[in-house]
Amino acid sequence: ATGPVSQVLAAAAASPRRWAGWVALPLLGGRRQAAMVKETIRVYARVKPLGRRQQAGIYSIDEDEKPLSSLEITVPRDLADGFINNKREMYKFKFQKIFDQEAKQDVVFESIAKPVADCVLAGYNGTILAYGQTGSGKTFTITGGAERYSDRGIIPRTLSYIFDQLQKDSSKVYTTHVSYLEIYNECGYDLLDPRHEASRLEDLPKVTIMEDPDQNIHLKNLSLQQATNEEEALNLLFLGDTNRMIAETPMNEASTRSHCIFTIHISSKEPGSATVRRSKLHLVDLAGSERVAKTGVGGHLLTEAKYINLSLHYLEQVIIALAEKNRSHIPYRNSMMTSVLRDSLGGNCMTTMIATLSLDKRNIDESISTCRFAQRVALIKNEAVLNEEIDPRLMIVQLQKEVQELKDELALVTGKQRTSQLSREELLQLDELIEMFLEDTDPESTLDVGADMRKIKYCFIHVKQLMNHVKTSQNKMQSQHTSEEKDTNKDLGEELKKLKELLQQRDNEINILVNMLKKEKKKAQDALLQLNAASAGSKVLEQSTSLNLEESQSPSSCFSLKEAKEFSCSVHRLPFLSRQTGGKMSLGCQEAFEIFKQEHVDSITIEDNKQLLKQRY
Ligand code: ADP
Ligand code: MG
Repeated sequence: ATGPVSQVLAAAAASPRRWAGWVALPLLGGRRQAAMVKETIRVYARVKPLGRRQQAGIYSIDEDEKPLSSLEITVPRDLADGFINNKREMYKFKFQKIFDQEAKQDVVFESIAKPVADCVLAGYNGTILAYGQTGSGKTFTITGGAERYSDRGIIPRTLSYIFDQLQKDSSKVYTTHVSYLEIYNECGYDLLDPRHEASRLEDLPKVTIMEDPDQNIHLKNLSLQQATNEEEALNLLFLGDTNRMIAETPMNEASTRSHCIFTIHISSKEPGSATVRRSKLHLVDLAGSERVAKTGVGGHLLTEAKYINLSLHYLEQVIIALAEKNRSHIPYRNSMMTSVLRDSLGGNCMTTMIATLSLDKRNIDESISTCRFAQRVALIKNEAVLNEEIDPRLMIVQLQKEVQELKDELALVTGKQRTSQLSREELLQLDELIEMFLEDTDPESTLDVGADMRKIKYCFIHVKQLMNHVKTSQNKMQSQHTSEEKDTNKDLGEELKKLKELLQQRDNEINILVNMLKKEKKKAQDALLQLNAASAGSKVLEQSTSLNLEESQSPSSCFSLKEAKEFSCSVHRLPFLSRQTGGKMSLGCQEAFEIFKQEHVDSITIEDNKQLLKQRY
């Protein structure tokens, strides 16, 4: 996911440059590979020549430490007097290159602006920022001095260079537009208002920021003026500068407290191609970076004092946030300037900053804070992406043309003019062929419809339909089967359940009967024990183990009929015994009989009679 292609896509998606009707689509692979350049913001320093009455500060430039140069600033003894001993007196800052007082505008342009202009011509975004205190040479560097032609600054030189290059390159069609925006007190003004009526900044059209759902910034009311050549572009620059000067006059501080952004928009396209490259170059003259609490040299000199301009404070916050690792939120939205320059700071842009320094003795502290700011900016990494877009309208025209060409080529090869649809006869013929092929049992049989994609596609669709049909009918049958199986399974289950219940019922019954049996058996055993104890001497009863009911019921001298009946009833009251013996008297019955006899009221009399009869016998 971190490959160059995805990075390009991600950067393209995040690009604020997505105009209505245009789709940001970088060309990948194939003819051209969308390129991305990742590099830190280049930071240069330019030292302004001293004025007549200015007293020089002590500084030195060391160019030997390649590839960077370093600037050493020494705090004069008399200024450092107020410091505690361990305070530093010498400061060293590194820059890409340092332009000393005598450096001319052409040299500055060649080293700083030309490489950026080349990138913009190649389709990348570019920004050149001038940062420094008021009077340090920002406007002189960006726009230039009015006195001599050679004092032309970066903007006119860049315009001249760009149009020169565009004229040389006949392989592409270029379109150039310029816009000129002034931001004062969080309000944007269109400096290219052609009415020449503005006498104050407020009379100029107000520019506002609009953010679309993709968080892309759009500037409403900022006019984009087309410039087809250098002269037209320069006229627009003069118009903007005139508006800027007129507007500043009644309000002197506007010149030092406003930001001016001159933007060159370039779009290029190869003839016949649907791909458009769009890039823009911001040339930014920032507000004076001076801070409050400048006096009170001692304690305040090297501490970070507050900016007079609040939006520069927000710019610094953005830069601090960008320099911090793993920082997800960058407070671009805090000011209009940081919103407009969002891409130039940590985004899709090749950015360069020029720190302008006025290194006279009085401005040492401001120069040091300018250098410190520059060091932080130098840490920011930008990812410039080639801004290629595809114009859908052009793409359609191009594709239609290609289709026609291919059709013609095909007709030439086959000798037949083809339509996109197959005829009825052709379809019927194909159906027959497919049927024959499917029915052929020979595993090596083939379906030959010729080199016609329409027919091949039709065959595949037809076979797919057949397959689907077979599948659905199979599914149906399967589902029927399973429903029947389910029914029988259900029946069996219910029967099993019933049988189980029945089994349980029977088990319960058996248990009850077994318990009853056990109880009766115990009763009988108890009775036997009692009997044995009671009639230990009765030999008659001991011997008559097989006495049965019939015998007992038969008339005898010892038993009355009534007694016999009573006995029979008592025996019947013992279901276990009667069932077991089937009417015959068992041991248990005998025991019971014995108990009955013992308990009978006449038992003693009978025993006496027995004894008496025995004696008499
Ligand atoms: P700023 O825009 O930073 O407030 P200016 O660009 O207006 O400062 O410069 C202040 C004055 O210094 C102007 O008169 C300008 O012509 C002069 N100046 C600045 N830089 C240079 C330079 N490198 N060479 C000659 N004159 C300069
Ligand atoms: Mg200025």
